[in-house]
Amino acid sequence: MNTTSTGKAHEAPLQFVDPRQFKANTRVAVDDAHLRSSFRSAMDFLQTKRAAHFGDTAAFEQLRAVGEAIRQYSLAHLPDLLQRLEARLIEQGVQVHWASTPDEANAIFLAIAQRHGAKDMIKGKSMVSEEIDLNHRMAEHGIECLESDMGEYIVQIAGERPSHIIMPAIHKTKQQIGQLFAEKIPGTPYTEDVDELIATGRRVLRERYRDAAIGVSGVNFMVAETGSLVLVENEGNGRMCTSVPEVHIAITGIEKVVEQFDHVPPLFSLLTRSATGQAVTTYLNVINGPRREGELDGPKELHLVLLDNGRSQAWRDADFRATLQCIRCGACMNHCPVYSRIGGFAYGTTYPGPIGLIISPHLLGLDPTQDLPTASSLCAACEEVCPVGIPITQILMSLRHAAKHDPLPGHAPLVGQKSARDWKEVLAFKAWAWLASRPWLYGHAVGLAHRLRWMTPSWQAGWTAHRTPMKPARRGLRERMRKG
Ligand code: SF4
Repeated sequence: MNTTSTGKAHEAPLQFVDPRQFKANTRVAVDDAHLRSSFRSAMDFLQTKRAAHFGDTAAFEQLRAVGEAIRQYSLAHLPDLLQRLEARLIEQGVQVHWASTPDEANAIFLAIAQRHGAKDMIKGKSMVSEEIDLNHRMAEHGIECLESDMGEYIVQIAGERPSHIIMPAIHKTKQQIGQLFAEKIPGTPYTEDVDELIATGRRVLRERYRDAAIGVSGVNFMVAETGSLVLVENEGNGRMCTSVPEVHIAITGIEKVVEQFDHVPPLFSLLTRSATGQAVTTYLNVINGPRREGELDGPKELHLVLLDNGRSQAWRDADFRATLQCIRCGACMNHCPVYSRIGGFAYGTTYPGPIGLIISPHLLGLDPTQDLPTASSLCAACEEVCPVGIPITQILMSLRHAAKHDPLPGHAPLVGQKSARDWKEVLAFKAWAWLASRPWLYGHAVGLAHRLRWMTPSWQAGWTAHRTPMKPARRGLRERMRKG
């Protein structure tokens, strides 16, 4: 049980799943001193690790320019690259599935599982599988989908969701994990020894790799030219999930494609340094099809599910396309002054932090996510560290505009366009514009406001929640100019 600074207790940790509640969620999160301090120290740790690899700013800028150019080139040629990728994968024996929505993606998983009579799946880390809520959707059909990434496994057995895209259990202390393992894993004594905790998790998972009918994984990069699926990981669980079960289903977003294999190393280098402060990860898996004759391991059947889920909306619009450059390193979250204070749950979306603010409106529509683009001071700390140069603040401004206004000329409406439009605000600005365009009347109205300043209400909606009320000055600008 966490106790907030106001003495109010709630179940640990906070779990929010509705971005409509974002403002209310942030109040609860900010009120939680324990949450704030654990995220603050975790973010400091990750920032320091990253900084150790990017001490030479000129070298970082140079590498970032390469990464940005590769991602921009890949997106500029996205339809062509996806077609070439599909052709190469099919040649290599991979079954390619296209899903427009999470429902379609889950139906594909279910059909494959039912065809094999599968009752369980073992899953490597995949945020896209979180996006489609795979575990819960499969559970509705009696299929257990077990997480094998240690952080994901911890949040799964705790009945939670990831609070960070790279470090899913970053909100948990080793004491909480020790307690959790003792409660949930039969025969496990309480310990705070991290090595022992990891060994326990490994012991449980190892048996499941052997028995699971289907292995599931995400994909970090897909190479159109060679039909390769590239997976970056540290624990070896990704390799187990993709090579031990008889069937492997990989799932990823359509934007993850690059043209050539040469495009992978710069992105890999940017990803690992930005995400975990590592020059390389322990494992880099390159998968080129199911098991071939004479090979000792690998799945007999390999599927790739390519998910759109609003990505093509972002791709079509020049103001939002750069959102898809993202390589999901999490650095923007680690450096965001908002994320580091409220943590990942308050956002109520699969992707929290700055990347969540700009991708979620496409995945879920602007209606439920209309408050998210306002969760930024536009300090641009995220942009400074983004390894592929995404103009996050500019995109946030465009989303704020889209949430309240008609599309700009030449742009199609987004799903949920104008859903945050406030008619009181519109009328107030119209009235102000009418008045301001009549200088004589405007002068008299302002003069009257100065004389009636004593009538200013002390409550002014959200403004006075954290500030003193706004009041007209004793003497207006015109009067000062006149009298000096
Ligand atoms: S927006 Fe940039 S910094 Fe954030 S996760 Fe994506 S690539 Fe990393």
